[in-house]
Amino acid sequence: MNNSYNYLLEHNVKPSMQRMSIMKYLLTHKNHPTADDIYNELSKRMPTLSKTTVYNTLKILSDSKACLALTLDEKNIHYDGDTSLHGHFLCKDCNKIIDIPLNEISLLRNESSEFTVDSVEISFYGYCSNCEKKRI
Ligand SMILES: [Zn+2]
Ligand SMILES: [Zn+2]
Repeated sequence: MNNSYNYLLEHNVKPSMQRMSIMKYLLTHKNHPTADDIYNELSKRMPTLSKTTVYNTLKILSDSKACLALTLDEKNIHYDGDTSLHGHFLCKDCNKIIDIPLNEISLLRNESSEFTVDSVEISFYGYCSNCEKKRI
């Protein structure tokens, strides 16, 4: 038993070894990895892991809200084990993603009886401090 086992059960995902490994990776790596990043890391330790399994598992995990699937970078989907409400900043130069804390109360005030918010994605674009220095 470990954290990712319980975490998957809480999100109604049947835990398997591979799902647990991928979930654990997302919960311990807050750098918003892509499916390829996760595959490249985990396949070193799990030679039987296939890319298809990683892609399918990430789909299951994001559909069940165990992780976020971020689409701010139009070339790649980035996955986030932190499902609390926060925004993301994407550096247009190095593609680095930085978490931005948000004020939940002012955002959720927009919720009304007319609709139910199922997911929120707030993206900011610009240049990180490193890339900004290089531009001057
Ligand atoms: Zn940058
Ligand atoms: Zn994030």
